[in-house]
Formats: sequence, structure tokens, C-alpha cells
Amino acid sequence: LTALTPSDLAAWLRRSSTLLAEHVSALNELDAAIGDADHGSNMKRGFAAVVTALDAEEFADIPALMKKVGMTLVSSVGGASGPLYGTFFLRLGTSQPGATQLDAADLLAALRAGVGGIEQRGKATVGEKTMLDAWAPALDAFEQASTGEDASDLAAAVRAGAEGAEQGREATTPLQASKGRASYLGERSIGHVDPGAASTALLWQALAETVAG
Ligand code: ADP
Ligand code: MG
Ligand code: MG
Repeated sequence: LTALTPSDLAAWLRRSSTLLAEHVSALNELDAAIGDADHGSNMKRGFAAVVTALDAEEFADIPALMKKVGMTLVSSVGGASGPLYGTFFLRLGTSQPGATQLDAADLLAALRAGVGGIEQRGKATVGEKTMLDAWAPALDAFEQASTGEDASDLAAAVRAGAEGAEQGREATTPLQASKGRASYLGERSIGHVDPGAASTALLWQALAETVAG
């Protein structure tokens, strides 16, 4: 696999839905420690709605697919994560007008555009103990592995991105939250993994599994 089609991206979203549903309790428990214990339930509900939307319709191109995904997440997830992940997918799509496939360079640009949407919408930056702390090292690792003279194939590069996301998730533990609900805890937010960083790592795991076939 050297480029992702709408059907590959749909497979990624379906795999994400399955993984999020498998981890619903774990994500709720992470959120119980520094939030309101609903992040797993929010993500499970949102991605189940995405799968229902994918089942109902064919999509002409990647922006059309991603618009549907983003709008479904915004409308079906009550929490902060709905608009944030929703904006991610909307921006991912609008950054690639008319695209029917994404090679590694396109995917990097699209994911970076999506993450730019999260930053803008959440007014957050790296180091504030949010999902951005998983996205940033994932994208850096993916970029590292997919560019340059000895670039890896797409599957290996996405695997590297997934490992970056896992490292970023773990690295949220010592951080103090300064955005979202967890920021209300001040110093007491230190010592816990951020739930949104954990769900981002699952989205990367799903992407790696999808691209690996
Ligand atoms: P809520 O906090 O409304 O219950 P969720 O529990 O579903 O929503 O999502 C919480 C996650 O959202 C956090 O763990 C964090 O990763 C992410 N988050 C919250 N606020 C922001 C923000 N301003 N920018 C980026 N991510 C954020
Ligand atoms: Mg919550
Ligand atoms: Mg909530």
C-alpha cells in the first residue's frame, strides 16, 4: 500500500470504532481521574455514529468522506473531544481538495492540517496535557520515517507514527493540565495519563493496523 483511498480511510475509521469500544472502560477510568469519566463513552458513541454514517452513503472523494465524519463527531459527542476531533477530520479533508488518494506526503500534510484545526479550536499548544501531546510526536515520527533518502514504506512510517503517539500519551503523565476540565484540578492533574492523548494513540494504532492490512 503506497496511498490511502476513501475505502482505506473508511476501514481506518471502522477499526478505530472497534478499538475505542474495546477501550471504553479504560478511557472512562483515565477521565475519572482528571475529568468527568466520560471520554471512553464519548468516543465510543461518536465513532459508532461515524460507522452508521459510513454504512449509509458512498463518498466521491476524501474531503466528502471527512466532512461527514467531522460533522458526525461534532453532532454526536457532547464533550470537548467532539468538536476537537470533529474539526480534525473536517480540516484533514478540506486540506486535500478533490483528493481520491493520499500518499505519505499528502497524509502528512492532511494530518498536520487536522492537528492545526485542533490547536485553533482548543486554543491549546503542546505541553498542556491534551490530545495534542500525542498528535505532535506521532506526526514528527511519521514525518521522520516517511521522508528523506532512506524513507520507510507507508506501513512502517505509520507504525513509527503510532509508536510516537504511544510515547506522547505516556509523556502526558508528569504534565499539569492547563486546558479543558483537567485544568480545574491544577497540580492534582499531575501523575495521570491524559484521556484524549490515549484515544489519539488508539486512532494511530487503528491506522497502523489498517495500513499493514
Ligand atoms: P469533556 O472534558 O468535555 O468531558 P472528553 O472527556 O470527551 O470531554 O475529552 C477530554 C479530552 O479532550 C482531554 O483529555 C483532552 O485530551 C482533550 N481536550 C480538552 N480540552 C482541550 C483543548 N482545549 N485542546 C485540546 N484538547 C483538549
Ligand atoms: Mg470527560
Ligand atoms: Mg464530559
